[in-house]
Amino acid sequence: MSGPAESAFAVLTPPGRGGIAVIRCVGPATEAALVQCFRPAHTGPERPPLPGHLAYGHVIDAEESAIDEVILYNAGACGMRESPAAPAAGSVTAGLAAAGLIFEVNCHGGPAAVRAVCERLAAAGLREVDADRLMELEGLPRIVRDARRALRRAFTPLAARILVDQLNGALAGAIESLRRAPAAAVMDALLDRWHTCGRFLADPPHIVIAGRPNSGKSTLLNRLVGAERAITSAVPGTTRDYVEAEAALEGAPVVLVDTAGLGEAGGEIERQGIERARQELARAAVVVYLVDASEGANPEDEAVLRSLGDRAQVVLNKIDSRLAASQRRARSHLAISALTGEGVPALVDALLENLSWRAPAPGEAVPFTADQAATLAAARDHLAAGRIDEARERLASLLG
Ligand code: GDP
Repeated sequence: MSGPAESAFAVLTPPGRGGIAVIRCVGPATEAALVQCFRPAHTGPERPPLPGHLAYGHVIDAEESAIDEVILYNAGACGMRESPAAPAAGSVTAGLAAAGLIFEVNCHGGPAAVRAVCERLAAAGLREVDADRLMELEGLPRIVRDARRALRRAFTPLAARILVDQLNGALAGAIESLRRAPAAAVMDALLDRWHTCGRFLADPPHIVIAGRPNSGKSTLLNRLVGAERAITSAVPGTTRDYVEAEAALEGAPVVLVDTAGLGEAGGEIERQGIERARQELARAAVVVYLVDASEGANPEDEAVLRSLGDRAQVVLNKIDSRLAASQRRARSHLAISALTGEGVPALVDALLENLSWRAPAPGEAVPFTADQAATLAAARDHLAAGRIDEARERLASLLG
């Protein structure tokens, strides 16, 4: 079994101030480098620790002075091989694991401590790379690398759960079965799951909240996010620019955008805000267009709505106000009170329906990158045209 020729490390934790930083080291020279720069606090027979073990100690400089207090973990025998998505015995990672050549240094998280430890590891012969390159050096399968990358960005617990299922082999298992026995219906089901779920994980759709100043856009965004993210005020035009907020609608990851009012531009700042709002509208998957129920839609609203076409969901807001009562009876649109929350669950249902969101069952295979979906679609086309070997090839490329 042979590992990569290159020995490298990457800082896995984000830059900034924090309690702990994790630096992962991979490659044949790792152990020799750690023998040089790590001293355990309690001397034992093994230095560095055995696979699967931790050792408390210090990273030291060439004069044996402590640079930082660390916990060193030998991940060489980590659980990779137990996972269905794990590399087969004999692959690079299995080789590394057997040789015990994956270590993690847990040092203090302050930027100076991290830099000092990194410089010491570099001086001991390891090259600094980014986390993506390190995953390649480890020989991790493509789906596992993609899932780890997506997990870094996942912001709803459901999205994280779905990605962990894929990390644990749900998608790899489905593709492996398909490669052995290509079946159009199974491919269609996977492509459907891309459309109803996976694409939300790859690139959460933008839901733009639009409407005239004072129609209640900021109040609705705050209600949907569940926090005071946008500043609301009774003075029209308070939201000068746009506010973006990541939110979970019944677990579905979406980005909510509260635009500046599309009304008359008073000054230069408002004019720029309105221009940005128009740009945001252009990239929106759905536009929630709020109309103050006490005022009703005016010709300006009608013009914006015509330009938005099918993507616009007209929503009457402020149905709690007394003035709204007559308007409310006259309309068939969704009607809410962003202030009290009345009608908001029905709006959320309508939005998810509009976006075709469907949460998968636990453990279900979900393609979660645009590239996976395109490769699957290409395999599906080959199969439909009777080119089974080409279909198999495409599927195999996803497992690389
Ligand atoms: P925006 O300019 O469209 O972002 O509007 P805001 O969210 O800042 O709301 C403007 C004013 O309308 C504020 O005083 C809100 O409290 C009020 N408002 C928003 N939604 C409702 C609602 O559903 N009912 C009532 N009665 N007032 C609301």
